[in-house]
Amino acid sequence: MSGPITDQDAGPQRESCHPDPPEVELTESRIATVGDMQVRRALPRRRRRTVGAWCFVDHMGPAAVTEDQGIDIGPHPHIGLQTVTWLLSGEVLHHDSLGSEQIIRPGQLNLMTAGRGVVHAEEHTGKFRGDLHGVQLWVAQPEGTRNGDPDFEHHGELPQVDLPGVDATVVVGEFGGVESPARRDTDHVGVQLEFGAGASASIEMKPSFEYAVVVMDGSVSIEGSDITPGHLAYLGEGRDECGFSTTEHTRALLIGGVPFEDPIIMWWNFVARTKDEIVEAQRSWMADDTRFGSVNSSLSRIPVGSPPWVAK
Ligand code: MN
Repeated sequence: MSGPITDQDAGPQRESCHPDPPEVELTESRIATVGDMQVRRALPRRRRRTVGAWCFVDHMGPAAVTEDQGIDIGPHPHIGLQTVTWLLSGEVLHHDSLGSEQIIRPGQLNLMTAGRGVVHAEEHTGKFRGDLHGVQLWVAQPEGTRNGDPDFEHHGELPQVDLPGVDATVVVGEFGGVESPARRDTDHVGVQLEFGAGASASIEMKPSFEYAVVVMDGSVSIEGSDITPGHLAYLGEGRDECGFSTTEHTRALLIGGVPFEDPIIMWWNFVARTKDEIVEAQRSWMADDTRFGSVNSSLSRIPVGSPPWVAK
């Protein structure tokens, strides 16, 4: 659920073409393999690299897992980003180089801040058998914190707002007059929206934010576009509300934020500003020097070669 960025997702840098988005811009997710699982990668794509500070969205499952085989992503490093893990079903065990050991279950948030460097592994729990279904997102860190200390937070409960036609869980940021306790380094929001069949709801928005929707199960209709799992629906900026309707029970994730102004470079598990920063992080990881530390995991460290722009 945490996965390397490759050239198939998007080049390491922003491309020059910026078509004006339509009212609802639908992008198809790419099927990628992460650990032992297939995921639908909704961000980044060539046409859409960020939504606010959100720079990565993997939708995983539902897929059958057992007590001793699940997502199973061995120790790997991150820099310059936060990982946001959110499950609809199943359990995942998180280990990191800060010494955290945390099982996450549906309705809970694991939020890891990489800063200058952290390592984590995501594993089967040894106890859970059933369907694993969830999302992992990354948030690019701003200049003020991206070289700072790593951090990990687990939130066992998050604020809920029941609005006409929709039950919202505020994962990150502020929505419906309530605020998630999760750390936030930029002005962004992430909300799970749960609709019954035949629901119709007006979702509040901030005109200064850009927004996108990823459907995790079911289907939602926005301004005549039907959005199903496997797509990112980009809604743009300048809205103060947006109408959502459903014909079946649906859970979707609404992400948004002030457009991220710093041009970011993403490669493998790193978010940076320059290619040299990426190369430095890759070399530290492969040298196993003191930058990233170690993680208590039964799985093997994930190696990575040099970025493609480095002369062999
Ligand atoms: Mn990861």
